[in-house]
Amino acid sequence: MDTAPDTARVLVVGIDGVRLDLLPELGTPHLDGIAHEGFLAPVEVDAATPTMSGPCWATVVTGVGVAKHGVWGNRLDGNRLDVFPDFTTRLAADCGRRTFAVGGWAPLFLAQQGGPLFVAPTRLGYVAPREDTPEAWEEVDTRVTTDAEHLLGLDEDLHAGFVYLGAVDETAHFLGCGAEYRASIEAADRRLGRLLAAVRRRPSYEQERWTVIVVTDHGHRDEGGHGGRSPLERTAWIAACGPGLSAGAAPQVLHHADVAAQVYTALGITPDPHWTLDGAPFRV
Ligand SMILES: [Zn+2]
Repeated sequence: MDTAPDTARVLVVGIDGVRLDLLPELGTPHLDGIAHEGFLAPVEVDAATPTMSGPCWATVVTGVGVAKHGVWGNRLDGNRLDVFPDFTTRLAADCGRRTFAVGGWAPLFLAQQGGPLFVAPTRLGYVAPREDTPEAWEEVDTRVTTDAEHLLGLDEDLHAGFVYLGAVDETAHFLGCGAEYRASIEAADRRLGRLLAAVRRRPSYEQERWTVIVVTDHGHRDEGGHGGRSPLERTAWIAACGPGLSAGAAPQVLHHADVAAQVYTALGITPDPHWTLDGAPFRV
């Protein structure tokens, strides 16, 4: 059921593998700005969910846990995304909204490795890495950001979108969580800044009400790597600001599945009970 005028917009930026404990030491002014206007709070990957990108991102964008969406690893085979679709697909198919998803990790966007996670947004963008190196992934994220800037600048109203940035996680896998990893997180923040500027440049920005959600899927061990249950691996986070999210009031409990629920709520859509979402809107 729709309860809001058609001015609500949502941007979700997913940055893969960003450790919460390192953020205070790093120059991330754009993320800090969102935290200041709203909140930045930890999320613990629940015990049923492998601390892997496939299952964690599936939970973030579907609003249901692994028992329902069936994504247990970085191959998405055997998933039940036809029953539990991502929000960009459901909004476009069932809610009369226009959506986009853009990024460079193949199983999220392509029919590869059991994907795609984003089945049918209104617009879909994929940028292939030229090789599997941290440098190539930084280039991918830069191009993904450019693609998203373009989409955000279009005349057509896109109500909700997801932008995936993967270089931070790749850097940790190749080089551990040292200087290069920290620099990559700061580069991701500059890309977040470009996306926020693209939102503010929209001709109709003054008439729109934007919710911005930034989320990571899991952490990393110091030497790089994840998949286990150590605190460094299972600690993720969500930052968000927008209508109804007052400054400084962080939710008491926060789950990855809450992101999709918050997207629907921010757009004035009451989730249908048949969707059986496990997440709930942010309770601040
Ligand atoms: Zn990873």
